[in-house]
Amino acid sequence: MTAADPRRALPKVDTLLAHPLLAPHRDEWGRAPLADAARHVLDACRTAIGRGEPAPGVDVLAQRVVEHLDLTGARRVRAVVNATGVVLHTNLGRSPLSSAAREAVLAASGYSTVEFDLATGGRGKRGHAAHAMLRTLTGAPGALIVNNAAAALLLSLGALARGKEVVVSRGELIEIGGEFRIPSIMEAAGVTLVEVGTTNRTHLRDYAEAITDRTALVLLVHPSNYRIEGFTASPSLPELVALARQHRIPVLHDVGSGLLHGTLGEEPTVEDSLRDGADLVVFSGDKLFGGPQAGMIVGAEDLVAGLARHPIARAVRIDKLTLAALEATLLAHLSGKRDQELPVWRSLRMGWDELYSRAQRLAARLGPGAEVREGASTPGGGSLPGQTIRSPLVHLTPRSGSEAAMMARLRHGDPPVIARTEKGRLVIDLRTVAEDDDDTLAAALLRALQAPPASGNGPATAASAESEDRTQHATS
Ligand SMILES: *Cc1c(COP(=O)(O)O)cnc(C)c1O
Repeated sequence: MTAADPRRALPKVDTLLAHPLLAPHRDEWGRAPLADAARHVLDACRTAIGRGEPAPGVDVLAQRVVEHLDLTGARRVRAVVNATGVVLHTNLGRSPLSSAAREAVLAASGYSTVEFDLATGGRGKRGHAAHAMLRTLTGAPGALIVNNAAAALLLSLGALARGKEVVVSRGELIEIGGEFRIPSIMEAAGVTLVEVGTTNRTHLRDYAEAITDRTALVLLVHPSNYRIEGFTASPSLPELVALARQHRIPVLHDVGSGLLHGTLGEEPTVEDSLRDGADLVVFSGDKLFGGPQAGMIVGAEDLVAGLARHPIARAVRIDKLTLAALEATLLAHLSGKRDQELPVWRSLRMGWDELYSRAQRLAARLGPGAEVREGASTPGGGSLPGQTIRSPLVHLTPRSGSEAAMMARLRHGDPPVIARTEKGRLVIDLRTVAEDDDDTLAAALLRALQAPPASGNGPATAASAESEDRTQHATS
């Protein structure tokens, strides 16, 4: 560095933090995040100066600190409008909670009777009511609810088969989004995986040959997010159960989505699995069950009681907010109001006519450039792979700029709107938008339509919308 080095002209962190532009932000964030942002901005400046760029003034630097803080803020968990038509959108939190579940969460969020028995004034059992409701709902003698289905598997495998062998078909060694892999869970639980059969065909005799006195469990996993078609085979659940019973080994069935009963594509149901003799059935709380993130375990009373006593159970127990939301969701199922009360089921069941009139209304408000066309929504969440639901979609051709730039403007709006694109058009699917949000969505779309292509509501917004705009042109 020479005496004339422009890097020397940059202010110290403390000087930058004293800038009046940052005062309201210090109030909101506190000093440490502000200082981190200031250091980040100053470091980036030193690098830029090293490349020969001039040193910016302190006002510009303060503005950059604010932008950096805004970026961090945008990464916090925020409510969004899901206009993608993916009903169980894993990246958007899978199942939205029902109004009753939301109210229950709020009510439980202070002091609440999580482990307190109002009748006796003594200690109560966490999940007592939820477990009872889940037993009634499924008819299973035992029920236990943990953090998620992955935890339910970890607990079941750890408690029933640690140090022993677990037999699984090669066609079921699946990976589900978010680093969930059956072989890794088995390894983490300390069990030895014994693979049987091939990817497309596994026979009863493959299981029979693999079972030894080291075998502790037969595991069946519904390959939720993909389908093997054509030359395939696998034994039926009753056949497998009969085989396992001969060897006095329990069968654990991970059915994934948590369809309780009835028919929905080729989804397995909890009811069928229990009826066919699975000793334990595991499913997610936030897929087709339509509740909060949770792992549901139902089945034989003694096995479930053993799981509940295991130390892993304490590590993967559910918290009071989840419990409250689950009880409300269980009640919706028990009272037969699933399709009216649970947002996932309202979305899946919403009829064409109702969606069509909502889509027409939205298109009319957006004016020329918007039209309603037939398209498809996706169940998502690893349920019903390859299947779609026919839906009317609002197609929007941006007046200026690309559809990708408009998508970016929508994402940066308040509330953020998540849409999808198709062949140069922005596509809005109302199947996943609550009716109460139609007005909010229309207003957000109008704002995004009116904004000129390269200016959003802030410098960071404009920059990213613009860069996506360029990418789009470069690839089209
Ligand atoms: C989704 C899924 C899981 C993971 O469920 P989480 O509740 O997200 O842990 C496990 N097994 C199957 C078959 C699934 O479909």
